[in-house]
Amino acid sequence: MTQHTHDAQPFPATTVLGYPRIGPRRELKRALESFWSGATTEPDLAGAGSALRRRTREHLSGLGLDPHAAAIPSDFSYYDQVLSTAVAVGAVPERFGIDAEGPVGLADYSRLARGDAGTAPLELTKWFDTNYHYLVPEIGAQTPLRHIPGSAPVAEFLEAKEQGTLTRPVLVGPVTFLALAKGEEDTDPLDRLDDLVEVYRQLLSELAAAGATWVQLDEPALVSDNGAVPAPRLTGAAERAYRQLAQASARPQLLVAAPYGDLRERFAVLAATGVEAIALDLVKGSIPDDGALAQASHLTLVAGLVDGHNVWRTDLDAATERLHQLRTAHQGRVCVGTSTSLLHVPHTVADEQALPERLRSWLAFADEKVAEVLALSAGPDGAAEAFAVARGAVADRAGAPGVRRDEVRHRTGALTASDTERAQVDVRVAAQQERLGLPLLPTTTIGSFPQTGELRRARAQRRTGEITQEVYDQVIRDEIGRVIDLQTELGLDVLVHGEPERNDMVQYFAELLDGFAVTEHGWVQSYGSRCTRPSILWGDVSRPAPMTVEWTRYAASLTDKPVKGMLTGPVTILAWSFVRDDLPLGQVAEQVALALRDEVADLEAAGIGVIQVDEPALRELLPLRAEDHQAYLDWSVRSFRLATSGAAPYTQVHTHLCYSEFGEVIDAIDGLGADVTSLEAARSAMEVVPELAASGFSRGIGPGVWDIHSPRVPSQEEIAQLLDRALDAVPATQLWVNPDCGLKTRRYAETEESLRNLVAATRGVRAGSSPLNR
Ligand code: GLN
Ligand code: ZN
Repeated sequence: MTQHTHDAQPFPATTVLGYPRIGPRRELKRALESFWSGATTEPDLAGAGSALRRRTREHLSGLGLDPHAAAIPSDFSYYDQVLSTAVAVGAVPERFGIDAEGPVGLADYSRLARGDAGTAPLELTKWFDTNYHYLVPEIGAQTPLRHIPGSAPVAEFLEAKEQGTLTRPVLVGPVTFLALAKGEEDTDPLDRLDDLVEVYRQLLSELAAAGATWVQLDEPALVSDNGAVPAPRLTGAAERAYRQLAQASARPQLLVAAPYGDLRERFAVLAATGVEAIALDLVKGSIPDDGALAQASHLTLVAGLVDGHNVWRTDLDAATERLHQLRTAHQGRVCVGTSTSLLHVPHTVADEQALPERLRSWLAFADEKVAEVLALSAGPDGAAEAFAVARGAVADRAGAPGVRRDEVRHRTGALTASDTERAQVDVRVAAQQERLGLPLLPTTTIGSFPQTGELRRARAQRRTGEITQEVYDQVIRDEIGRVIDLQTELGLDVLVHGEPERNDMVQYFAELLDGFAVTEHGWVQSYGSRCTRPSILWGDVSRPAPMTVEWTRYAASLTDKPVKGMLTGPVTILAWSFVRDDLPLGQVAEQVALALRDEVADLEAAGIGVIQVDEPALRELLPLRAEDHQAYLDWSVRSFRLATSGAAPYTQVHTHLCYSEFGEVIDAIDGLGADVTSLEAARSAMEVVPELAASGFSRGIGPGVWDIHSPRVPSQEEIAQLLDRALDAVPATQLWVNPDCGLKTRRYAETEESLRNLVAATRGVRAGSSPLNR
């Protein structure tokens, strides 16, 4: 045991695991983007960061978290907490040529995240089952891992201390850090565990010397058995790492946080290592069993009862009941906290004056959640008023009009198996070929065309009332006309209208469906300076009127070529919104699917022969525990089929998936039953094509031949090579040619050139491919 056992500062009664870093008015976004554009300097950015950190500390202290007892997390990051941890432990890949002897400056830090002309950035990928993206550390056998004195965690702790706040530094824990890292060929980042733990040991020692009493190590990897690392290896790594860290002679007390799920057997493993505290996610996870708790009486437990990943007010009575259960079962200290960092929710409901008053009263964003933590700790007597208000809101929400609508429930209740079935594939193929008459290797795009400054301006002017709806609609019509002309000139086979009317592929539909609300300032960080404003799905969903038919019909009227209607699928709509917590997600998905099914029918009736339903988030919602996968895949696939299976045989249904490691969802992709599936594939050189073919997938497939995440224009030869590679795995009759994803973030110059190359390459491959394949 350590020297802390006698006089150690106890863990504060109330805390949050983290707080939004972007700032209530996205101050960090602005500071970063002006630094990147060259308009401001490194000291300007550092000053903005420092001001934000100070604001957050003072604000949290004002809300009631103890500024002298490590209750306020020091969890700032300029871009991403995984990158910040990487930099703090010296894990800077050599390819960046950064001198990592001392702390990494903000220009180099930005380069790791964004790359530059000669260097690709670190890869970006989704953080557990959230829509937050982290930068993937590259940890090979030789990657430096070293203690860098004076790195950000220490500097920011000292900065806070000088300004009068004793914070709790937060780092990504060593096990999660390596579990999320990418190795080189044949190397497993976890092989570097001992090296990394040694660096953490030194960092902890420096933090202790600086005066830190508690440090939080986030280990969400321990609630998952989904990652690349086999579960027993991960458990073993946790045991080894925390035993070593706990034995360190000079260190702060350690809180290991396990957000997003349930530690299960790893709770006992961690408890036995000698760490002082564990934070449990009691929203997604459960109270450890009595046997495990009996062995853990020395531990402080932080009960994560307030949901950090959703926006609903906590049912304080129910949470108090669980807190009571935990206090009864656990001999040691029990504190109250959030289930996860508050990074995933906006700052405050107080900013949302345009939301209906009643809906607003059901919500809790970051600041309101801090108040809930305090109320839970104070209890129903100590915080009678807060409990009364919460009770009222919970009851009001349960009975409010729109939350439960009989006509919606009757419709989902009456569904039968035949509602997810379409005609036989061969019947569909014949009917579609006859109607569409497409050439071999049809070319198309994923939906959006570049969002020009003019479009953004028009949208802003429409919002402020500066232009009328008629003027705005004309801007959109003109843009559709230009996009159709361009595609015609380029010689694409299946055209799109370009989605100029959509600010966002989910929010657009949320604004038109009943059961959703959209916020004004509800920004949450997606990655780096990028933020999204998720819609709030609060009630039963239905479609009061067609949503896309007019624009699509207009586009189709301008050409003889088929125009593809564009819809966002049920899973993606759920994944990128705040979802209701009072109905199983599978049922919510059914409601959204039925609304889309009506839209499909209306598009079809308007003469649209090709309809795409995007599901880029299919992989993202995959549960963190393997045993939950099948149930999820069942409802998600079913909801897609429900949305699309009303289509007649002669209507060609497309889907689009991206951001995915397809492996775990490959059977599900087949299960969607789409006639054509486009996927992200350019960066991985078509890897997914043989994989899909091997799994027996036999319908149309459009592996992306242009990586649209970068401004680089792919050459004709390069595209032809990718097509040849795809044709090694699938017959030409199955292959479609398209970019990796939508083009809304690209500029017209590179879009035109790339699509020109795409069409030319396709024509070349068509000419060369054997007529026997046709
Ligand atoms: N149809 C959408 C677009 O083209 C798809 C975007 C996505 O997959 N994220 O923008
Ligand atoms: Zn995509």
